[in-house]
Amino acid sequence: MKQRMPVVENILSANDRLAEENRSRLEAANLYTINLMASPGAGKTSLIEHTIKRLSGQLNLAVVDGDIATSIDADRAAAAGAEAVQINTGGECHLDAVMFQGALNQLDLTKYDLLMVENVGNLICPASFKLGTHQNVLIASIPEGDDKPYKYPTMYRGVDALVINKIDLMPYIDFDMEYFQRGVEVLNPGLVTFQISCRTGEGLEAWLTWLQKKVASHNPADTDR
Ligand code: MG
Ligand code: ZN
Repeated sequence: MKQRMPVVENILSANDRLAEENRSRLEAANLYTINLMASPGAGKTSLIEHTIKRLSGQLNLAVVDGDIATSIDADRAAAAGAEAVQINTGGECHLDAVMFQGALNQLDLTKYDLLMVENVGNLICPASFKLGTHQNVLIASIPEGDDKPYKYPTMYRGVDALVINKIDLMPYIDFDMEYFQRGVEVLNPGLVTFQISCRTGEGLEAWLTWLQKKVASHNPADTDR
């Protein structure tokens, strides 16, 4: 069993090297990129749709959509008004730097200001595979339960921002926000957090303002990670 560890480490370091190359290409094109991760059904596609609808007047937007088998999410992003590239992972439960490179090859990177990557719905391995994006954003949602930071610490530790979606369901679900946020704070102190509802629109303004600032202040010379 012990012999298997170095193989895994080699795969991850090869992935990291390619992620660095992807990052260099994004920098050369001055294209700000976020990697959206979440469990299935948390609202990645919905957040992307809202973001496209609200920002497409000011920014040129592109979306890379990772999905195990379908193009449903990429179709939704395209319908909302962004250039969308679909990656079918062929059963893989995460995106990796090779797949992301393939998606970048299909876009004229210099045409866009913001690229949003929708990772495969999964709270485990997407955390381990860097893509080369500037920020990792995690979307949690109220129906998932307030224990998720405790159960998926690697994911919560590795992200730069947290969006808590479906807060309109708080009155109907036993979700202890204080307990949830205490768990997050231990893993990722001071993490930028937004409480939103894609259904009602509550809280979206703060998310959009933050994202616009990130795009506007993006300087290829500074690295966020
Ligand atoms: Mg989706
Ligand atoms: Zn996976």
